[in-house]
Amino acid sequence: MTSSRIAIAGAGLGGLACARVLQLHGLDVTVFEQEPAADARPQGGTLDMHGDTGQVALRTARLHDRFRTLARPEGQQMRALDPHTAEVVIDELPEGDFRPEIDRGQLRGILLDSLAPGTVRWGHPVADVTATGDGARLTFADGRAQDFELVVGADGAWSRVRRALTGVRPEYSGVTFVEFGLDEADRRHPALAARTGQGTMMTKVDGKALVAQRTSSGHIRCYATFYAPEDWAAGLDFADTGAVRASLLERYAGWHPDLLAYLRDLDGGFAHRPLHVLPVPHAWTTTPGLTLLGDAAHLMPPLGVGANLAMLDGTELATALATAPSVGEAVRAYEAGMLPRSIETAKACASGLHDLLSDDLGSMAA
Ligand SMILES: Cc1cc2nc3c(=O)[nH]c(=O)nc-3n(C[C@H](O)[C@H](O)[C@H](O)COP(=O)(O)OP(=O)(O)OC[C@H]3O[C@@H](n4cnc5c(N)ncnc54)[C@H](O)[C@@H]3O)c2cc1C
Repeated sequence: MTSSRIAIAGAGLGGLACARVLQLHGLDVTVFEQEPAADARPQGGTLDMHGDTGQVALRTARLHDRFRTLARPEGQQMRALDPHTAEVVIDELPEGDFRPEIDRGQLRGILLDSLAPGTVRWGHPVADVTATGDGARLTFADGRAQDFELVVGADGAWSRVRRALTGVRPEYSGVTFVEFGLDEADRRHPALAARTGQGTMMTKVDGKALVAQRTSSGHIRCYATFYAPEDWAAGLDFADTGAVRASLLERYAGWHPDLLAYLRDLDGGFAHRPLHVLPVPHAWTTTPGLTLLGDAAHLMPPLGVGANLAMLDGTELATALATAPSVGEAVRAYEAGMLPRSIETAKACASGLHDLLSDDLGSMAA
């Protein structure tokens, strides 16, 4: 059993931001990631990086200049369309670049490139974590174990590390996303590309929304979003694109054909993403050797803050570890700032989820 300094479970945006800042301060860190390689899974759509959270984290990580070379200020465009007429009701492009967009894959790439070679151990699923009094023991899926002074749970919604701190599990929010995409939109789907604009298009009524977002490659990522019981898709095979499309067209019946075209013209298949959230407040007693960040600590509805907070958590924890007199004091200081902030934000997101599905086209939470 070897003992090393800091382990991070999970190579998502939060865990990688934490590792980057730890290395800037010369601290010893290893990231254990369950996926076999960086490119094992498509990284999905686009994220807006907020000036007061995600961009603060990027500055702390000394990666803001690199981010600026890839960020898309024009991606801040927000359009709301009437679901029955497809008319544009709202079309806004905020001034400045408080929330420029960047593809999730590009942002993850910036963080991965910034780490010392070998920092991320791919193909290392964490099976269990236990506090040891002066640290924590990580047990991997293959049965091997390793001790650390600190284990950071950056392992997302279904965190294994969280189990060692709280018995709490995420609950279904009552809202489901069905995600799909359109490739090479300007060339292959010009009418939908024009309708979407350079940023986000949203239309909604009767507890159903359709959201479409541009990525840097001209791809459009779409989310059919609606209230539904958790088992709404029982009997629906998501590998059967035709069956899912038919089910969604029935659900969105009466909407303008130009909007239903997003569902009709998709490339690839549909992905089912029931939204789960942690209860608010979610907190725990500070425990030596263990802490959480990002979705592992405060999974909330995806309304444009989760990645921003995960990165801010990660960089603040790393800064505390580099400056506090002990690991225990660093964790205490970090949690004293992170927990109240995440509780406040989670409360706002809980009501924002219902605004997203209200009939008011002016409330364009996304
Ligand atoms: C459709 C959608 C759109 C979103 N849009 C936005 C947005 O615009 N802006 C925004 O700020 N947020 C957005 N979010 C939220 C954001 O994606 C998350 O809050 C953010 O990714 C959380 O980062 P994280 O590092 O905490 O966790 P994750 O990104 O989930 O990373 C966790 C990592 O841990 C790994 N892992 C899991 N279990 C284990 C294990 N047992 N052992 C080892 N590794 C493990 C996973 O493979 C993963 O790599 C969106 C979410 C969704 C679903």
